[in-house]
Amino acid sequence: MSDRVVVTLDGQVHDADAPLLHADDLAAVRGDGVFETLLVRGGAPCGVELHLARLTASAAALDLPTPDLDSWRLVVGLAVDEWTRTSDAEGALRLVLSRGRESGGEPTGYATVGPLHERVTKARDEGVSVVTLNRGYSVDYAASAPWGLLGAKTLSYATNMAALRHAARLGADDVIFTSSEGRVLEGPRSTVVLARGKTLVTPPVEQGILAGTTVDALFQVASSKGYTCERANVYPADLIAADGVWLISSITLAARVTTLNGVELPVPAIAEDVRSMVDLAVESIGDSAADA
Ligand code: PLP
Repeated sequence: MSDRVVVTLDGQVHDADAPLLHADDLAAVRGDGVFETLLVRGGAPCGVELHLARLTASAAALDLPTPDLDSWRLVVGLAVDEWTRTSDAEGALRLVLSRGRESGGEPTGYATVGPLHERVTKARDEGVSVVTLNRGYSVDYAASAPWGLLGAKTLSYATNMAALRHAARLGADDVIFTSSEGRVLEGPRSTVVLARGKTLVTPPVEQGILAGTTVDALFQVASSKGYTCERANVYPADLIAADGVWLISSITLAARVTTLNGVELPVPAIAEDVRSMVDLAVESIGDSAADA
């Protein structure tokens, strides 16, 4: 039996090992669609409303029909129920919305839940070694090429995955992209946060990076605990000089950067604080969604 769950947008639960897409689905042949990934923890999905809001923004960027959020909430509920029926472990819930078949018809929508990759627990516990890679375009690209879909979470992640394989060839676990002028952008699947004393800094989304839901939630919690939280330009040298650097995301949560381009980074005094604030953040954004 599969340890995975698949539920389509019409509310049907599918055999997770059975084929689902048509051969001409634009998700498969063009990467033409959007997605979200959320953590399932303690039998509940974390930050559903934040992720649905970003799914809606990404869909708008691709001129896809506005997602019917009530249907998505239903599908999320069904998928998480299916998952928790057989597992009390954390899961990765993915929402996928493609333009549909090339031959026409409705968009394709479905949710899956699966176990966390072992890389995730390792990154949480031991941190990650990181290399910087030039993404090759300017921080102005998002503004000058609004059709370029920077900041939308599209299904076209082939370049991000290629960057991770390139990093692996260099002996590193993960990547921090830089712009053509050398500014820090984001990871292929994470947001970069650095600490200077009790100040947390992340690059601004206007530089053409994804608006991370986890960093937003972290900054809310951290501000309430006396941290100063800033969105400001960051350069690789700032990462080396920082008191701590993390890759932050919905599934891995906080992965401390242990080495950057081979340079060892110190264990930050606030390492435990950041870990617990991110935990609180992802769990409480679930609560505020329920309150909303
Ligand atoms: N940036 C990129 C490119 C990502 O793929 C992700 C994760 O999905 C993030 C940032 C972090 O976003 P979130 O915290 O919403 O998972």
